[in-house]
Amino acid sequence: MAEENRLRIGPKEGVTYPIQVVYCGNCTMPIEYCEYYPEYDRCKQWLEKNLPREFEKVKIGDNSDTAIGEEEKKRQKRGGKGIIKTKKKEEGPKQVCVSRAPRGKKKSVTVVTGLSTFDIDLKVAAKFFGQRFACGSSVTGDDEIVIQGDVKDDLFDVIPEKWSEIDEDFIEDLGDQKR
Ligand SMILES: [Zn+2]
Repeated sequence: MAEENRLRIGPKEGVTYPIQVVYCGNCTMPIEYCEYYPEYDRCKQWLEKNLPREFEKVKIGDNSDTAIGEEEKKRQKRGGKGIIKTKKKEEGPKQVCVSRAPRGKKKSVTVVTGLSTFDIDLKVAAKFFGQRFACGSSVTGDDEIVIQGDVKDDLFDVIPEKWSEIDEDFIEDLGDQKR
């Protein structure tokens, strides 16, 4: 019955007759159906060998899938741990973050971020830390100061002492940064 119905349907616009159906030598299905075949990889191998032009189309399709996959991975990475992002003024609560980062084999530096969320001049702050801890201290980013020395624990006292608006509760200890 179905066969009869199909025969009754007349030529369609935009279709070149006779319709050429290309069958796959691996799965014997029209090549559009190959991707549903469990051995699609072998179909692709067959296509590559016998119908390189059709194979190119298939390959292009595959590539776009891969690109999406990689984009997805990137997105996941971006939110990953270990990346200390500088918070923009507009977004998120005010917070200062302190962490320790390795410098050389034995030495550590202390990284302070978030001071600008309290409208503190980073240059002034870096200079203050340098004098207070008698060590190098410099502005290293948008909202980041690196102090040459392990002074992380001291900062919980020193920062609120210097800037009364920053309570100790506003300072988050991010611990040790991994290299
Ligand atoms: Zn096939």
